[in-house]
Amino acid sequence: MQSFPYLSLDKDVGHLGVAEIESFAAQISGGVLGPADAAYDEARRVWNATVDRRPALIARCLSDRDVQAAVRFAAARRMLTSVRGGGHHIAGNAVAEGGLMIDLSAMRAIEIDPARRRARVGAGALLGDFDRAAQAHGLATPLGVNSTTGVAGLTLGGGFGWLTRRYGMTVDNLRSANVVTADGALRTASADSEPDLFWALRGGGGNFGVVTSFEYQLHPVGPQVYAGLVVYPFAQAGRVLRAWRDFTSDAPDELSVWAVLRKAPPLPFLPADAHGHEVVILPLVYSGDVAAGEHAAAPVARFGDPIAVALGAQPYSQFQTAFDPLLAPGARNYWKTNNFSRLGDAAIDGLVAAAGRLPGPECEIFVAQLGGAMARVAPGATPFVGRDARYIMNVHGRWQDPGDDARVRAWARRTFEDAAPHATGSGYVNFLTEDEAERVGASYGANYPRLQALKQRFDPDNLFRMNLNIAPRAT
Ligand SMILES: Cc1cc2nc3c(=O)[nH]c(=O)nc-3n(C[C@H](O)[C@H](O)[C@H](O)COP(=O)(O)OP(=O)(O)OC[C@H]3O[C@@H](n4cnc5c(N)ncnc54)[C@H](O)[C@@H]3O)c2cc1C
Repeated sequence: MQSFPYLSLDKDVGHLGVAEIESFAAQISGGVLGPADAAYDEARRVWNATVDRRPALIARCLSDRDVQAAVRFAAARRMLTSVRGGGHHIAGNAVAEGGLMIDLSAMRAIEIDPARRRARVGAGALLGDFDRAAQAHGLATPLGVNSTTGVAGLTLGGGFGWLTRRYGMTVDNLRSANVVTADGALRTASADSEPDLFWALRGGGGNFGVVTSFEYQLHPVGPQVYAGLVVYPFAQAGRVLRAWRDFTSDAPDELSVWAVLRKAPPLPFLPADAHGHEVVILPLVYSGDVAAGEHAAAPVARFGDPIAVALGAQPYSQFQTAFDPLLAPGARNYWKTNNFSRLGDAAIDGLVAAAGRLPGPECEIFVAQLGGAMARVAPGATPFVGRDARYIMNVHGRWQDPGDDARVRAWARRTFEDAAPHATGSGYVNFLTEDEAERVGASYGANYPRLQALKQRFDPDNLFRMNLNIAPRAT
């Protein structure tokens, strides 16, 4: 048995004894780590390198029963509790200083039922695991655009990606979830069983319990899709983004075209003299028939004079990894996000001006095109209220040197503030940083009171508070 020299719990719970920890460790099939263990530092590391927290204990769960044991242990001692899926949240909420981390990263089992077009996915699975397993059957559900993001956190906050305009948000495709609530009970939440809990899980983040597995609706996609990038010189940014805005306001649901403003990475299909200079990148996917996609996407290469057009048929699962190199773990990151129901010329000019002040080679402004199927769901049908968001902007401050922390954060904040008058006022909880707790209520809008009442019902003591926290409130 290892030693646990580093224990700092909530002030009011006193001290955990070694025997108590040993008895807990005996209940967790993947074992319990403390700071003296060799695997501890790797297990507590998350995607955003600005987050460096030291939990007291890490429970490496392999089963629903493990998760129940961990929740009961934490609840009985009122320990600060965090839940780790893929560890990607920008706020680093997967790990709590001095708390118990319930680590689900080994619970990655995936079962695909091609006949029913359903998937059962373990809460530690990454997007790439899920895409690969489903694409083996020519199926997929809407997920995000980076293959190492966790399925769990992405789903619980809403989830959008290249298939969202056609098939909705990830939560619109969730059919059921197995969840351990704060009382330690294992519940199945679906439209027929625990419908209130099921509603809350579809966008309410990790506030309502620890999900151990998810069941999703799948759809036929690919395996080949028409996809790729069109890259324009920055001098044409205003004209290109206006043409993109006009084109995307009337595009078919199968087509998603996003916009990224950044310095050009040294990609082989870009001319060498563009490398390191600001460009406008329009990545796109047409998720239907490949020939129809070529036709539908053709105008995107005519918004100006592109410096590169890299479009063609490719496996959907391959394009789902296209941005991985730009979003690898280990860098310092700070984000700011806005939802837009429309992008007027003034908003576009503001984004171009902000991109003219990029504070580093890894910083970018990306704007995802939404609408389509996700917008046809009523705002109260799930907690994800931003159904009017035709575009979601994410300002990616990304850098390596801690000495740049203040400078990059200031750029991200200014870009956000300049864009705010043109935005809806709502935000996407999966992109909110740890210093944005005050935006949580506005991000849930009219759904917030119902979420607070359900939080009061399922987690009245706020055991699950390492998240964009919904404060429990009795109605
Ligand atoms: C590089 C990158 C690309 C991204 N791209 C997209 C994108 O295209 N589309 C999109 O919608 N989002 C995207 N995101 C945002 C992403 O959805 C969130 O970061 C999400 O929280 C990641 O989930 P995770 O499981 O990896 O994170 P974690 O940090 O492990 O968890 C996030 C939160 O959820 C809680 N949680 C995790 N698992 C569970 C569980 N099983 N039960 C209860 N609570 C749990 C955690 O406690 C934490 O509060 C991206 C993020 C990154 C870093």
